[in-house]
Amino acid sequence: MVEKVALIGSGNWGSSVAKLIGRNVQKFDHFDTEVKMWVYQEQIDGRNLTDIINEQHENVKYLPGIKLPENVVACPELVETCKDATMLVFVVPHQFVSSVCKQLKGKIPPNCKAISLIKGIEVQEDGFRLITDMIQDALGIRSCMLSGANIATEVAEERFCETTIGYRNRADGELFRDIFHTPQFRVNIIEDVVGVEMCGALKNIIAIGGGLVDGLKLGANTKAAIIRIGLYEMRKFSQMFYKDVKDETFFESCGIADLVTTCAGGRNRRVAEAHVTTGKSFDQLEIEMLNGQKLQGTSTAKDMYNILTKKGLCDEFPLMTTIYRICYEDLPPIRIVEDI
Ligand code: NAD
Ligand code: 13P
Repeated sequence: MVEKVALIGSGNWGSSVAKLIGRNVQKFDHFDTEVKMWVYQEQIDGRNLTDIINEQHENVKYLPGIKLPENVVACPELVETCKDATMLVFVVPHQFVSSVCKQLKGKIPPNCKAISLIKGIEVQEDGFRLITDMIQDALGIRSCMLSGANIATEVAEERFCETTIGYRNRADGELFRDIFHTPQFRVNIIEDVVGVEMCGALKNIIAIGGGLVDGLKLGANTKAAIIRIGLYEMRKFSQMFYKDVKDETFFESCGIADLVTTCAGGRNRRVAEAHVTTGKSFDQLEIEMLNGQKLQGTSTAKDMYNILTKKGLCDEFPLMTTIYRICYEDLPPIRIVEDI
């Protein structure tokens, strides 16, 4: 069977993986070589971003300076992008997943498979939902999860790194590995979708902590302490809500490695550092510093805090609780070390 891949999302990470996928589908006989990529349409200097991508083969707004393969075709219509696909790659910021799933409901063939590259969770009245579960429930298809120490621009520049794919069905994991793996982007597949997903969502909160410590100029030892305590809280939270999450998952690229990279070089870290040095709000800094890219850590901190409060668990997760309070309750940043 020939598989056809569609990409849902074209931001900083979406565009970077478009380069990997566009090249990899040409290496194997079992893939259609055209990859459609859904672009949330916007105007750049009076022109459609989709037209610019299809003519210049570059996402000039979200991944400037990187050429995309010509078989990646930008499309502004979501349903049109996905209509013939057998493999869907979800890579939109987590706040848009629910609306994407609603638009695709009933329009996806049942033989389709999905993978989420989204680092976040969806909060609901009665708790929270994993994005892979939302995809499965809304569209009736299985979903894998890819997450790792993968700053998008470094991956696009083909600097070596690793990543993790969590699968429920091994054949799905192997098929998705084919579209991502390269000698510079080494994919490891493991049977723990939930563990991979929880790591990706929770590390964004700890990354804010890493940035606060940088803004306060507390040094490398303090940063290491935030990473260690962060990893401990990530594992505790994940296994409290999903007892099958494996300890080993936290030693994969999606675990400790992503935590290190994100606390060293990510957007959440950068904006949190600027929050300390400028005193500006996170919302303001997101607009000023990210040019349309989305911060995931602050909203995830808020979502997580709501869950911890409802369940009476704040005392058991002092680091995540304190990071939330610094972001949303004007707690002085130094409390990151005083309150944990
Ligand atoms: P991004 O931060 O670049 O987000 C901007 C994207 O959101 C743009 O494509 C924009 O068109 C789109 N958008 C804006 N409004 C929208 C709307 N109403 N509906 C749908 N889309 C809308 O995105 P990204 O960096 O590709 O991140 C996507 C996911 O990948 C996130 O969960 C992120 O945590 C994860 N991730 C990012 C990186 C990275 O280095 N950027 C690395 C690994 C994982
Ligand atoms: P930021 O969203 O903080 O840039 O993190 C990117 C990432 O997930 C790297 O693995």
